[in-house]
Amino acid sequence: MSSSGKQWETVIGLEVHAQVLTASKMYCGCSARYADAPPNTHVCPVCCGLPGALPVMNRAAIEKVILTGLALNCSIPSFCKLDRKNYVYPDLPKGYQISQYDLPLCIDGSIDVTVDGRTVHAGITRVHIEEDTGRLVHRVEPDGRDVSLVDLNRSGVPLMEIVGEPDLRSPEEAREYLIALRQILRYIGVSTGNMEEGAFRCDANISIREVGGPFGSKVEIKNMNSFRAVERALRYEEERQRDVLEAGGTIPQETRGWVEAQGITISQRTKEQAHDYRYFPEPDLPPLRVSEEMVSGIRDRMPELPAARRQRFASAYALSPQDSNVLTLEREIADTFEATLGADTTPERAKTAANWIVNDVMALQKTRGLPAETLPLSVDQLRGLLDIVIAGELTGRAAKELLPELGPDEQPRDAAIRLNLLVLNDDGAVRDAARATIEAFPAAVEDFRAGKQAAIGRLIGETIKRTGGRAKPDDVRRILLEELNR
Ligand code: ADP
Ligand code: ZN
Ligand code: MG
Repeated sequence: MSSSGKQWETVIGLEVHAQVLTASKMYCGCSARYADAPPNTHVCPVCCGLPGALPVMNRAAIEKVILTGLALNCSIPSFCKLDRKNYVYPDLPKGYQISQYDLPLCIDGSIDVTVDGRTVHAGITRVHIEEDTGRLVHRVEPDGRDVSLVDLNRSGVPLMEIVGEPDLRSPEEAREYLIALRQILRYIGVSTGNMEEGAFRCDANISIREVGGPFGSKVEIKNMNSFRAVERALRYEEERQRDVLEAGGTIPQETRGWVEAQGITISQRTKEQAHDYRYFPEPDLPPLRVSEEMVSGIRDRMPELPAARRQRFASAYALSPQDSNVLTLEREIADTFEATLGADTTPERAKTAANWIVNDVMALQKTRGLPAETLPLSVDQLRGLLDIVIAGELTGRAAKELLPELGPDEQPRDAAIRLNLLVLNDDGAVRDAARATIEAFPAAVEDFRAGKQAAIGRLIGETIKRTGGRAKPDDVRRILLEELNR
């Protein structure tokens, strides 16, 4: 409710551009992996847009877009075509982009997104193939001149656009939708989903309506380059539009840009200034017929998707929803977890493995600044760790000390021996430590004898410390009690 007594509802639909991971570009043979290449080294007459150069379709890119469509529950029409989208900008050497207009590769899909425990069913209007543009670099030269430079390494890199239905109702839902979408693209190996590198970009459309009423006119926001920025921009825009409507104003349809440093959006162009792209069918490329055999062949390559894997982890290994979620965020991590278990998937072993990976191993991953999909231990090392933990040869505390010291190919057991961290399976040594503790803490001993059961905890802790953390708590308790009751 608001001061006007009206009940507003936010409506959001996202348009995502994701670079498609292929060896070569969309319409020529240039390498599409340009990240560290000097400017204008991955170029040819086609992606430079020289007159007379003819495009040739990249089949791998088409297949990856279809795989994406299938993962997003889309239908794949048997016929589609490419269209020219015409506009003039220095990063677009041909003066048009080869894209798809009215007949895209994939249509009518959806994904389910969990937000605060609720499931949001978000429609996907379409997924189509297009090509990326070059990049402009604006800078000041040493002699003080302002220059704008063009790098065409990115020009012609396969790009897909995933257009979402206006089914999202809050900035949080938009954020979760993006995270889920990116996770799917990474799982099926069609995109790195890297937002900072510009391989995954999002334009957000947002409007406000009265609950149950017709949609309001939408504002398109551009220039966000992180999930956080998308959520912040939408939150800002939601509030701005509500304020205007509350005050009796109207929202014009326009494109606005997010200014990260100021945390605001500013108007870039209104509907009247919108582009006329003069779409028409691309005359240099034939339309595509997508056979059922082609689609089923691609469907056969579909890996298990994140949501299914999350549910399977929870049910097959009796893991908590949180552990199942964390372990399936990245496909490589989920693979590593399952490879570590191997054939022995008893719930106890699975739970122990999950615990170690989710907590200590991932903490070390963070400390070392490794990418989300790379753990600091190999499958072999994780297995070795699991073995000695389950065998009771390594206490939790000793393992925490062990992990950061583990060499690149070293087995945890060897490292534990090297560092003298293996469990003390020697009653005599534990008894010596227990006696020394009893002598050193007469007050705690007195408390215990006076019936304060809690005092034993202190004595156990001190005894374990004296063994360098190597004694097992159960052994210590048993031997301490024997000594105290002597
Ligand atoms: P356009 O004609 O400008 O291309 P579309 O209808 O194709 O607009 O939608 C483009 C994007 O805007 C889609 O992601 C869609 O979900 C979203 N969208 C459409 N209408 C609205 C609206 N009223 N409010 C918020 N988002 C919207
Ligand atoms: Zn080229
Ligand atoms: Mg549209």
